Amino acid sequence: MTSPEPEQPTGGPLRVAVIGSGPAGVYAADALTRQRRVPVRVDVIDRLPTPYGLVRYGVAPDHIKIKGVARALRRVLEHPDVRFVGGVEFGTDLTRADLARTHHAVVYATGASVDRRMDVPGEDLPGSVAATDFVNWYCGHPDTELERFVLDTEDVVVVGAGNVALDVARILAKTADELRHTDIPQPVLETLAASRVRTVHLLARRGPLQAKFTAPELRDLLALPGADVVVDPRQVDIDPTAVGGGATPELGEVARAARTNLKLLREHASRERRGLPRTVRMHFWARPKEVLGQDRVNGVRVESTRLDADGRLTGTGETTDIPAGMVLRSVGYAGVPLPGVPFDPRGRTVPQEGGRVMDADGEVVRGDYVAGWIKRGATGVIGTNKSDAAATVRSLLEDAEELCSTAPAPVSLEEVLDERGIAHSDYEDWLRIDTAEADQAMELDRGERVKLHGWEAYRRVIGE
Ligand code: NAP
Repeated sequence: MTSPEPEQPTGGPLRVAVIGSGPAGVYAADALTRQRRVPVRVDVIDRLPTPYGLVRYGVAPDHIKIKGVARALRRVLEHPDVRFVGGVEFGTDLTRADLARTHHAVVYATGASVDRRMDVPGEDLPGSVAATDFVNWYCGHPDTELERFVLDTEDVVVVGAGNVALDVARILAKTADELRHTDIPQPVLETLAASRVRTVHLLARRGPLQAKFTAPELRDLLALPGADVVVDPRQVDIDPTAVGGGATPELGEVARAARTNLKLLREHASRERRGLPRTVRMHFWARPKEVLGQDRVNGVRVESTRLDADGRLTGTGETTDIPAGMVLRSVGYAGVPLPGVPFDPRGRTVPQEGGRVMDADGEVVRGDYVAGWIKRGATGVIGTNKSDAAATVRSLLEDAEELCSTAPAPVSLEEVLDERGIAHSDYEDWLRIDTAEADQAMELDRGERVKLHGWEAYRRVIGE
């Protein structure tokens, strides 16, 4: 069903603050500025001086093609009606009440920045780490210290069968030479070069047909030039139409994707090992029962699983211990509550309908909208955020007239930030960082960009 065209509002332009400059936030700005009916001014606000969110700090550095989406996002931030405001944290530097003075509407696009938990004993032992931490480290997130990882163990367990699990397993299994032309910060590359890791165990608590990873990422893993990927042929010898007592899979898109995964895994399982220096061992039907160790991790106790007649995951009671000096928990991301904004603690998202934020009584919160992972949970690929943000913007534009006509005369964002004494950065500052990273890549003879690392490095370039 298509929505009616929104009315041209009076008292415009419509001033919209987008919180978060990841794909969802930038696509929201894009949808707002692509239409002509309602004049808009968009401030895309981020707590970091660098835009693009997970495109910069989540997409694996060796996925250079996917990272290329930043070029499209850049065009949005360079639109004359869009402004990037960096170094401003929503909730501390700037509150919802402040934004009520400066903008007619707010779109929260803050993503899902923390890891979900496995809820097993030993999960918090030193050496058991959220995959989000590891990803932040190799992506050069300024909040993560360079010394966070030393990679002085031979065996690592990665828990989870999503694309993030494949990303971290792949980065651990690649040689520094294979990663040289990526944007990985130089000290991180040096740590990876000195890595003692030899075996990465990937634990999938269900079977190959239920794994969440997608075929392109699986292909990347199976094609690693410097690592043998070991798949137990017995675990992939499955009739895809007779799994889980017939409860799964349905004949839909998901099932098709799963069947592709199964085909790739079966072909791979029949191949000879090449005797390469590193190994990635895929364990299906294996769920963590306990992270083992006294002062730090020394292994994971794993229970074998199966699906019951209703397709539910059940433990068989049979356990095996896998020795490991590091455990990376890659069991999904979760959203964090935003001060003054309703939150659903179960779904770890902001309650919404059509992108309009809803309060505990099921009423629309006037002027508040949501897009991306904080709206729908940590699912989908980058492109999913485009249609998601466009749907939110359609709702916002439908409300535009009411938002503009009833709002008080706005105060400028600068005035409010100045009142607070909050220094902030702008798009030009980001371009300085961008250039410094390109220069560094030239100096080191490493690809197009080598990321700066840490707040101090950013400040030096911006000259704060
Ligand atoms: P995800 O796709 O939700 O995968 C989470 C995995 O963790 C699932 O295999 C899940 O198994 C497992 N899991 C959950 N709780 C567990 C537990 N307690 N014990 C053991 N295993 C557990 O999450 P993600 O990998 O973090 O990815 C997040 C989103 O980003 C996804 O949409 C993903 O496709 C996307 N992403 C895309 C790319 C790319 O396109 N290249 C790269 C990275 C991420 P069950 O299925 O049994 O729950």
